[in-house]
Amino acid sequence: MLKSPYLQRVFDEVRNKDLNQPEFIQAVETFFLSMDELVIQTPSIEKNAVMERLIEPERFIQFKVTWVDDQGSIKINRGYRVQFNSLLGPFKGGIRFHPSVNESTMKFLGFEQTFKNALTGLPLGGAKGGSDFNPIGKSDQEIMRFCQNYMLELYRHIGPNTDVPAGDIGVGNREIGYLYGMYKKIQNEHTGVLTGKGLSYGGSLVRKEATGYGLCYFVTEMLKTYRRDTIEDKKVIVSGSGKVGYHAAIKAFELGAVVVGMSDINGFIYDQNGLDMKAVSDLCVNGDLTKKYIETHECIYGNNPRDLWQQPCEIAMPCAIQNELNLEDAKALVKNGCFLVAEGANMPCTLDAENYFRTQNILFAPGKAANAGGVAVSLFEMSQNAQHYPWRYDEVDEKLKGIMRDIFIKCYSAAIKYKDPYDLISGANIASFLRIYEAMLEEGIV
Ligand code: GLU
Repeated sequence: MLKSPYLQRVFDEVRNKDLNQPEFIQAVETFFLSMDELVIQTPSIEKNAVMERLIEPERFIQFKVTWVDDQGSIKINRGYRVQFNSLLGPFKGGIRFHPSVNESTMKFLGFEQTFKNALTGLPLGGAKGGSDFNPIGKSDQEIMRFCQNYMLELYRHIGPNTDVPAGDIGVGNREIGYLYGMYKKIQNEHTGVLTGKGLSYGGSLVRKEATGYGLCYFVTEMLKTYRRDTIEDKKVIVSGSGKVGYHAAIKAFELGAVVVGMSDINGFIYDQNGLDMKAVSDLCVNGDLTKKYIETHECIYGNNPRDLWQQPCEIAMPCAIQNELNLEDAKALVKNGCFLVAEGANMPCTLDAENYFRTQNILFAPGKAANAGGVAVSLFEMSQNAQHYPWRYDEVDEKLKGIMRDIFIKCYSAAIKYKDPYDLISGANIASFLRIYEAMLEEGIV
């Protein structure tokens, strides 16, 4: 129940209208819960119908992707691009290939991305795209044909100053390469229309590591501010061994943390003395971490990745997918000594898990702040493309650290000013909202 009758009305309306979009409704609810007091104190928000304007995507594109598999069968998938909000800059956000992709997941991700991108302080609007295509088990040729056919429709909606997609779950360097190759063939131009490109044709150093590294930089700022401490010797568990989880685990280890647990779609591995990170690094490259790790290492193993949350740790980094950590998992984490949760994925914690952490005074880094390093370095990639000049590794890494520090300060300052110093969820929502709100008023009713 929201205190502001206006917010409650808008929430009831969206809930009725988008009844079959639970992830989107969840994202709106978390956001509205943070905005309650501010909306009551600021009547111009209602007068300008700001919330109604914010929760409606500017454009929602759905299209058919037809392709032929290696056996010669014709396959049909749904492709999407939601161009959620362009108040601050060109639409920007990843493309996800995963069976869970549908209208609801696309809209929640586009909505989250809008606020995440606002927090970076950079000129970026919010978008998301994807398909229910499942890349697991597909051959390289099938992946290429799918990407090419996806781009055959997407190209007409994107452009370096219009909408700049990137990777996400199921879309990495290889897929971006195939997408980019097709875009270039159709448009006959080399531009920064996609980010996460290979280094040989316009990609940026540190882009592939950026989300995971940025997550650790954000956690470092939190530990310094709230506990005058560092990540050194802290026992960390990281879910998901994709781009985000893998690089978060590697950076945490480099900074002196003890990475005790990790997971992938096949299960989880846990060793209270710390995993062998050299082996983790070798095995993650082939996308087969847990199964292969247990062949050569003694450790606790379970074939349900979710059981990772039952293992003791001090810091938990959920980096796999939305709603991967529920109330029961949250209770187990707290009981076993976890004092900080940092979201590497987008909305990995359910709303009740998030609320539970709040009641238990757990330090909590919301995804839209803590995982913004990836999109920030994407903007650096766009800058390098526009300049036709690549930057050095240390230059990009330093800028990434600076951005993550700034994002933390923005969230922390807004939390102090509008809620309480520990409420970074509200801090992140309010700080990003204020930037978007200012732009909305200045750009008029459009
Ligand atoms: N998919 C990433 C995210 O969720 C990166 C988006 C981008 O670089 O545009 O933020």
